[in-house]
Amino acid sequence: MICPLCGASSQFDFLYCPNCKYKMILEAEQPLPNWRQLPGFRSKTSWKMLLAVILYIWIFLAIVASLFSGF
Ligand SMILES: [Zn+2]
Repeated sequence: MICPLCGASSQFDFLYCPNCKYKMILEAEQPLPNWRQLPGFRSKTSWKMLLAVILYIWIFLAIVASLFSGF
């Protein structure tokens, strides 16, 4: 990453610039999958999100049902 203040670059991420001690603003880590990228979550319309949730639950139940029907 590159320091926006002095231009010092490092191949490692750092919280404070080793050259000018400028505090870096690191992008928030996303340990969980970015669920907002799923279809239906991109828009901020609540009813669409609700519909998407119902649809995903429906698909999940269908998969579970198909798994258990095999026995
Ligand atoms: Zn710097």
